[in-house]
Amino acid sequence: MGELDRGGDQDHRDAALGHRVPWRAARRGQAFIVPRSWQWMEGKGILAGPAQRNARHCPAAPEWRVIIQEKIMSKIEWTEKTWNPAVGCTPCSPACEHCYAKRQALRLQRMGLAKYRNGFRVTLHPECLEEPLRWKKPSLIFPCSMSDLFHGDVSDDFRDRVFDVMEVCTWHTFQLLTKRYAIAELYLKKRYTGKVVPSHVWIGLSAWDSRSSVEAQGVLMRMTVRTRFLSMEPLLGPARVIEPIEWVIIGGESGPNARRMDEAWVRTIVADCKRLNIPVFYKQKVVNGKKISMPELDGRTYGERPRFLD
Ligand code: SF4
Repeated sequence: MGELDRGGDQDHRDAALGHRVPWRAARRGQAFIVPRSWQWMEGKGILAGPAQRNARHCPAAPEWRVIIQEKIMSKIEWTEKTWNPAVGCTPCSPACEHCYAKRQALRLQRMGLAKYRNGFRVTLHPECLEEPLRWKKPSLIFPCSMSDLFHGDVSDDFRDRVFDVMEVCTWHTFQLLTKRYAIAELYLKKRYTGKVVPSHVWIGLSAWDSRSSVEAQGVLMRMTVRTRFLSMEPLLGPARVIEPIEWVIIGGESGPNARRMDEAWVRTIVADCKRLNIPVFYKQKVVNGKKISMPELDGRTYGERPRFLD
């Protein structure tokens, strides 16, 4: 929040006391900048202007500027919080074509959030590494939702720092997901030679069709990880689950120009999971351009999770 603090803490405190806050402007949806310590303002509805719901404007700052506070609570159905010590990525698969993280990063850059000043270029934020240590409530955390920790521009040293934090935070469950199978496999082999990855750190690989899912399952089975999961979102073609992994997520692509997912593909994967006794989480589909969360498949929803979490 460096740039935001130009007004100084005392100024912010003065403003927080009341008389310098232009409440009327806030009600009109004008933007505010506030430091994180002003989180008491959240949830009061005072800033619920149409396009500025997450924006803040700081009357104490020398100039009025707009920034957006990054959201930590996640809308992703299978997790609770996101943690982004690295942001930015580059496409590495057909599934990346309409990357949601890229759209979000460019939007946050346009809105002036300093963390996204480089848009979607890989950028490390060591200052965010300790965030999970401060979250006392045990949570399901999706690390690097705006990046891929196993991107070639992220060093093993930085990955070590991320894993060090995850290892310490045993009260949380981390759901690490990557499309870069080979780098992930190599890294885990190096870090955990002869040992199992701590059970509260789940490792997932993203797959989007038959070929990628077979490859991902092969890699998962070689990993010494207690909870191995396969995320098939966006599902772009038929695929099978053939290995006894611990969890499968399925979802259709959403957003502009979303590609079609055939429900028959989902039915096959769910049947495979039932046969292998694997919990399955059917996250979303799109009907007539509208996203449906946790849709039904043949009369029921599938929101299953790895068994030892229940
Ligand atoms: S790997 Fe993930 S974050 Fe990176 S471009 Fe592809 S979809 Fe986006």
